[in-house]
Amino acid sequence: MKRTVFSIVNQKGGVGKTTTAVNLATALSISGKSCLVVDLDPQGNASTGFSINSNRRKPGTYEVLTQKVDMIDAIKPTEVNGLGIVPSRVDLANAETEIPSTVEEKEYILKNAIDKLPQQYSAIIVDCPPGLGFLTINALAASDKVLIPLQCEFYALEGLSQILRVIKQVNTELNAGLDLDGILLTMHDSRNKLSIQVEEDVREVMGKAVYKTIIPRNIKISESPSHGKPVLLYDHACIGSEAYVSLAAEVLGKGNFGGLSES
Ligand code: ADP
Ligand code: MG
Repeated sequence: MKRTVFSIVNQKGGVGKTTTAVNLATALSISGKSCLVVDLDPQGNASTGFSINSNRRKPGTYEVLTQKVDMIDAIKPTEVNGLGIVPSRVDLANAETEIPSTVEEKEYILKNAIDKLPQQYSAIIVDCPPGLGFLTINALAASDKVLIPLQCEFYALEGLSQILRVIKQVNTELNAGLDLDGILLTMHDSRNKLSIQVEEDVREVMGKAVYKTIIPRNIKISESPSHGKPVLLYDHACIGSEAYVSLAAEVLGKGNFGGLSES
């Protein structure tokens, strides 16, 4: 079985990275692909989104990156069948400075940890923090594919060229297998002229790199984290859930995670 590692990246916060990591993983799991979410943001929003309370976050990504535990021992089950998560806590922000000095290639710590996992998951989805620093570089060095969420607002395209440059650089220097899977338009409001204009602009500039699926601004999506549930478990019929099911199908259709046929 081919395993695909996916990073959700944007140097800006509040653009829908965590929402996409949580709900894409859930939609893939429901479609029969076992998934692992790796919470690589010290804010731990993905962990919260799956109801992993603070007393269940140790060991987590901090212990994995500082090489105190193997990743397999940091995985917690979630309410979603076949979906596990490696949770995070605020101390993940200090991981870089606490890596044992004997470790030579700091960029590959996450990759090495993932490589040691048994082939139990077909998809590993890394929820990155805002920024393009140590944690995000570790995620990119470990990934096959990158998904970039862009919020449908005036400055959507600003900063995109910088992310693309970093991806290219990682591709050249650290990980020849890294590829952009797609750019995802998030928080789209079809009644808002600005959203429509941003969609047009992004599609014109980025062409086929933009997913056909658009994630609408949807109240159920924003309510679900406070209930500790992915939106698909909170309200499976809302337009937000439908959009993430459609995104999962589109991502699978590109041949990721062994493609549509194999589970
Ligand atoms: P990031 O991880 O990039 O910082 P989040 O996924 O945490 O961004 O989203 C930021 C905020 O916007 C959160 O409160 C989230 O619930 C909300 N949000 C994200 N996507 C949507 C959406 N499609 N509709 C409504 N609210 C959304
Ligand atoms: Mg986040």
